[in-house]
Amino acid sequence: MDPVPKPTVPAEKRGEEKGLKCKLCDRKAIENGYCKFHKKAYESIATKYDFWRKALGITWKEYLSEIAKNPLTGQWAREMAEYLAYNGERQNVTQS
Ligand SMILES: [Zn+2]
Repeated sequence: MDPVPKPTVPAEKRGEEKGLKCKLCDRKAIENGYCKFHKKAYESIATKYDFWRKALGITWKEYLSEIAKNPLTGQWAREMAEYLAYNGERQNVTQS
């Protein structure tokens, strides 16, 4: 009798179903694929960038790496900054 091949279930099936998970952690995503903690971190990062950009004229990428390496950055914001920098996701602020 031949061995029956095991059905390969893709491990990363998460996100496809109802219970959408956060892109950064295993918590439930509530908006844009982020859980409430990472969403909050994103909002705070995006809001502060406006200030940094005006004051220092740094780019979004530079800003993200500043956040990521700042020892005072909280865990959520750091994870978010690293994620954004890595994925090249842009902040959703329209710049004209
Ligand atoms: Zn999360």
